[in-house]
Amino acid sequence: MPFFFDSVYNLFSFSGGEMLRMALLFGACVSVASCVVLAVFADSVSEKARQLHFSSIVVDTHDDTTQRFLDGDFDLGARSSSGSIDIPRMKEGGLGAIYFSIWIPSKITGPEAIKHALDQIDAVREQVRKRPKDIVLATTAAEVREARKQGKIAALMGVEGGHMIASDLGVLRSYAALGVRYMTLTHSGNDEWADSSTDTAVHNGLTDFGKAVVREMNKLGMMVDISHVSDKTFYDALAVSKAPLIASHSSCRAICNAPRNMTDQMIKDLAAKGGVIQINYHIGFLSEEFMNADKDPEITKAIAAEVEKRCGGKEGCQLIEGDRITREYVQQGKLPRVDYTKIIEHIDHAVKLVGAEHVGLGSDFDGANMPFGMEDRRSPSRF
Ligand SMILES: [Zn+2]
Repeated sequence: MPFFFDSVYNLFSFSGGEMLRMALLFGACVSVASCVVLAVFADSVSEKARQLHFSSIVVDTHDDTTQRFLDGDFDLGARSSSGSIDIPRMKEGGLGAIYFSIWIPSKITGPEAIKHALDQIDAVREQVRKRPKDIVLATTAAEVREARKQGKIAALMGVEGGHMIASDLGVLRSYAALGVRYMTLTHSGNDEWADSSTDTAVHNGLTDFGKAVVREMNKLGMMVDISHVSDKTFYDALAVSKAPLIASHSSCRAICNAPRNMTDQMIKDLAAKGGVIQINYHIGFLSEEFMNADKDPEITKAIAAEVEKRCGGKEGCQLIEGDRITREYVQQGKLPRVDYTKIIEHIDHAVKLVGAEHVGLGSDFDGANMPFGMEDRRSPSRF
């Protein structure tokens, strides 16, 4: 989806902003076009749909496989029997570009947060460096297109949570210099300068420093990602940012009333300024029925205990086993089943509101609970 900066410095100018807008539209359009086709050919993939999918640069703007890179022996180039992402399955699924998320929990702050972020950026760069025939780091639109020409997958990076800059614009600039091309203003907790959608508001949106962060991101050519932020933070960012905003992995609140999802009005306001909503596949954001059932404290406790037993403190393992155990609970009838067609409902809803050019895909693979039929990176080729 939207990454496409031909120069990271060109956002100062009107033409730069226009370029970004065109890039956003291109990215969103190529990724969603196939989804719209899926709605028509839900049961069998037509030749036309297949051709459209595999001839497009399909972009996934949010993926959490990075956590696995740090768990030890994970090799992105080898087919894995667990999780959703590796090079063989990305190729089979016709993925053109992927944003690896640089993420740590909101409670880790200060120098420790920076250290974790740098470790993850290094881990992504090392995984890519070791597989030069298959995947290449991209930081501009031109590099993504060039990767495609060479038959390679483009790897990009986004920092998921403003707490990782430790309130220091110099750190933000360093992340940009290392190739990071978006930052999500918060994760699930507030940071020092912005409110999250899943925490108690303390800043009334963005603080003055938070607004300075947005302006600095504009200058650097880093996309401002409003997934996870509170509604007020979203509107503050929308007012301040000179470039269109992205929601790298968010779904529709009209279908599933989670604060993490966007209201119809927010989606319209985002699109009116050239932004895109990239639909998240997490079943707790797709299905209100699942979200409510999953709030049962006994189920939550039992799943957490089982994850702890299988993984200890390994973050990557926890994310993947959490998905596997949830799936087992669904199969045992303890939680409602959600199918991949629910993703299409969200895509259709957003497309009807604002048009296909403002809607794309932000899977949350390897970081969330996937619906049945969307087990790994091969599945979206069904679209
Ligand atoms: Zn997230």
